[in-house]
Amino acid sequence: MTQPDATRMHRISDENERLVDLVLDYSRRRILSNDTPLDKPASPAELRRLAGATVTEQGLGADRALSIFEHVLAPACITTDHPQYLSFIPVAPTKAATAFDLVVSASALYGGSWLEGAGAVHAENEVLTWLAREFGMPDGAGGVFVQGGTLGNLSALVAAREAARRRLDKRGEAHPTRWKFVCGAEAHSSVASAARIMDVEVVRVQPDEDGVLRGDAVAAALAEHGASVFAVIATGGSTNFGIVDDLAGIAAAVRDHDAWFHVDGAYGLAAMLSPLARDRFAGVEHADSVIVDPHKWLFAPFDACALIYRDPVAGRLAHTQHAEYLDTLTDSAEWSPSDYAAHLTRRARGLPTWFSLATYGAAAYREAISASIALAQRIAAHLADRPGFRLVRPPQLGVVVFEREGWTKVDYDQWSLRLLEDQRAFVTPSSHAGRTNARFAILNPNTTYEQLVGILDTMK
Ligand SMILES: *Cc1c(COP(=O)(O)O)cnc(C)c1O
Repeated sequence: MTQPDATRMHRISDENERLVDLVLDYSRRRILSNDTPLDKPASPAELRRLAGATVTEQGLGADRALSIFEHVLAPACITTDHPQYLSFIPVAPTKAATAFDLVVSASALYGGSWLEGAGAVHAENEVLTWLAREFGMPDGAGGVFVQGGTLGNLSALVAAREAARRRLDKRGEAHPTRWKFVCGAEAHSSVASAARIMDVEVVRVQPDEDGVLRGDAVAAALAEHGASVFAVIATGGSTNFGIVDDLAGIAAAVRDHDAWFHVDGAYGLAAMLSPLARDRFAGVEHADSVIVDPHKWLFAPFDACALIYRDPVAGRLAHTQHAEYLDTLTDSAEWSPSDYAAHLTRRARGLPTWFSLATYGAAAYREAISASIALAQRIAAHLADRPGFRLVRPPQLGVVVFEREGWTKVDYDQWSLRLLEDQRAFVTPSSHAGRTNARFAILNPNTTYEQLVGILDTMK
């Protein structure tokens, strides 16, 4: 039996050169394609049958492996950057951001410490500082790009509780028997997930009729639950409706207590870059921490969430890991991204956003976001007038929720499946107050009014 040469995988050779070309060529075609179909999932059995055994002792070789990816696996993944992908929250990375994502891998950048990744960390911090300024946060605000909003919310809340513990310790006061945080009844599911992980209690406050959580309701909850509340979470653009809570009112309510004010803007806070929506976010400048996902409305590829602390020291006190082999990093005053969230090793995942912003400039972002908001307004106006349809709420940002009169859940489900089956659009049913509805999440600049009307025409 021949023993494979162990360095075969790492050395420069004709075989590896060809392999790199193959992969770059595929990537180039995919990045520049404007007709990748929507595609759709397949069953495990079907994929097993079509792909065959792929992990083998001798390897399939790059041609065969890439061919299986291109012809079997990729078509079983929905094209999330397709202009008619309108479910959940889509992704619409710029060409610069997607292309540069390859560079982040190619350069083996380590994004955890200043010592190892100073240049990359500097560029990521440029973006975080720019965002913090846009949000009106003070100089010195900063943080880190984490994997997603779920981890961003968790890391911010852990920092908030640590700050509360330290404050009580300093005063020599006892800790509450049960820590709590306050959030709106429609806060994102990741907030409940953070509470489970942290083993803390969630106090859910009812928003007003229009879905907006306001300061007086939060003030009442704070009065009732007192010093056991370590944080208040407001949503800057809810996932279901794109509703922005009354951030200024909530900030004022929190100011009278010792609690931390966190704004979950994973989806919506990017809209603050647009003059069409900026005013809705008044009050965010008082936040102790905010998150916004570049992989949502800041046109970056998966996965990136910007987590920004008003006072980054609070993040560091909660998250720095200590170990003998790390002391050389943690004893220094340098800015190490690992210190600001629940993670250690990290990809410099903020760099695609940095490269894209540096390339195109902020104004292009403002324009793209404004265009989606305007499109959402336009299709909402159409829906409000269209016989047989009901606009559930006027959109604030890019999410448009509507009902087809007389339809039951089964009708919506069948219609949605048919849309995907026909490779026409990906629109999954949603629901509100016990009623099924349909929902367009619009953020892809290639989505058009005509496409949206075309989808409505299929609801017969
Ligand atoms: C998407 C979203 C999250 C979760 O972000 P992930 O990146 O999916 O983990 C949290 N909050 C809101 C408001 C969101 O829209």
